[in-house]
Amino acid sequence: MTASAEEGLTIAVAKGRILREAIPLLAAIGIVAREDPLRTRKLILEADVAPGRPPVRLVFLRAQDVPTYLEYGAADAGIAGRDVLLEYPGEEWYEPLDLGIARCRIVVAAREDDPGGSAPASGSVRVATKFERIARRHFAGVGVRAEIVKLYGSMELAPHVGLADRIVDLVATGDTLRANRLKPVEHIADVSARLIVNKASMKMKAAAVKELVAALREQVEPSR
Ligand code: ADP
Ligand code: MG
Repeated sequence: MTASAEEGLTIAVAKGRILREAIPLLAAIGIVAREDPLRTRKLILEADVAPGRPPVRLVFLRAQDVPTYLEYGAADAGIAGRDVLLEYPGEEWYEPLDLGIARCRIVVAAREDDPGGSAPASGSVRVATKFERIARRHFAGVGVRAEIVKLYGSMELAPHVGLADRIVDLVATGDTLRANRLKPVEHIADVSARLIVNKASMKMKAAAVKELVAALREQVEPSR
């Protein structure tokens, strides 16, 4: 069952912080899930939509899976962080809109007692991260030899147990870094949640997709 075989739109939303901030944004354009996505265990919900608008169903995914759903046409549109889009090996979608929600940064961080910079004095660096591609690209760009240690979470621990000299991770307030006696030493990219659209859906469901993009644009860029 591919999304494009259906009437209406399937929108894939990253769970967690993005979902919490996307709910009011979608509500503002008349898309309201029939159950509270933050309370139900259901991973797919029909939504009520503004009168005359095409039907919408919402699917809730791990952030990293949103690009995969778009690439395979399992969703017509998606909401995912720029971090996840940068990390995904491919760009099989359009990215028409910065939604301006779930803002944070991708940074290189080190122990508080570290002198800082891209790498320790030795000139090569071991980096713990779940963002392998982003980290590789960054250290190649600044000309530092980096060995990437792939982790799936709790990156902040790695510099304290000798697993890595640096981490590459998302930072919003810096509280988590501080709580774990780390400091940002380099800024890699600003992150916010983006609307992405499946290329086939853009053609096959042009009217519905354009309407969705226009309605969201109106919310996030009200001056234009
Ligand atoms: P998970 O930990 O399961 O990957 P999160 O909810 O922590 O899920 O992150 C999902 C997305 O939320 C991230 O990919 C990122 O785009 C966004 N995000 C925004 N701010 C933060 C933050 N301070 N920490 C983590 N993720 C954030
Ligand atoms: Mg997290």
